[in-house]
Amino acid sequence: MNVTFEQVRELAQRTVTDVRYPIVKTYTLDAIWVLYDRVLRVDPHRPDDPARDRFLLSKGHGPSAFYAVLAAKGFFPPDWLDDVASLESPLGSHPDATLVPGVEMSAGSLGHGLPLGVGLAHGLRAKGFDSRVFVLVGDAELDEGSNHEAIAYAGAIGLPNLNVIVADNDSASHGWRGGIASRFEVNGWSAATVDADDHEALYRSYATAHPDRPHVTVAVHRP
Ligand SMILES: [Mg+2]
Repeated sequence: MNVTFEQVRELAQRTVTDVRYPIVKTYTLDAIWVLYDRVLRVDPHRPDDPARDRFLLSKGHGPSAFYAVLAAKGFFPPDWLDDVASLESPLGSHPDATLVPGVEMSAGSLGHGLPLGVGLAHGLRAKGFDSRVFVLVGDAELDEGSNHEAIAYAGAIGLPNLNVIVADNDSASHGWRGGIASRFEVNGWSAATVDADDHEALYRSYATAHPDRPHVTVAVHRP
């Protein structure tokens, strides 16, 4: 299936999740789409390939965009999008890694994805894989202290196969507007701040070489 961005946007609109956070359907879609369409080395026919890249949606309360991209890339039939969060559907209001093909992490409480991503990236390197780990977090999720332990540790050890995407819609209680990248850079990360719907800028950031440190892409959405 060769899907365009317009088609994947229509897929995302078919879902009925994100009731409390309907904007998540659209503002994380660009970031996840560019990643799966142009960067991530994953294959729906070999979902357990140990050398695959990993994507962790830490911001699991907004799964529609993620589900739409997985369907577009052939991990499950697009029909599944029509009854998300029903009793029979494997697609819950938070993604479940034991039920959904292509989902690497069950998401629930915020603040877990990045620490898990650090461990995963570390473990993959220890096993000799060159797999990359991408973690999408929300800006308000950075209010969770667990993320700052992970940011400090990953920066201190220069974890090169770790990449974070922050979906920044100015919703955090802590921190300050425009200050997210600096919170990573002061811990030794490389960073780029881009418009959330600028596909070329997202791609350039994802493809940035960072051989001795982790990298963060701050995708700024201002409604
Ligand atoms: Mg937010």
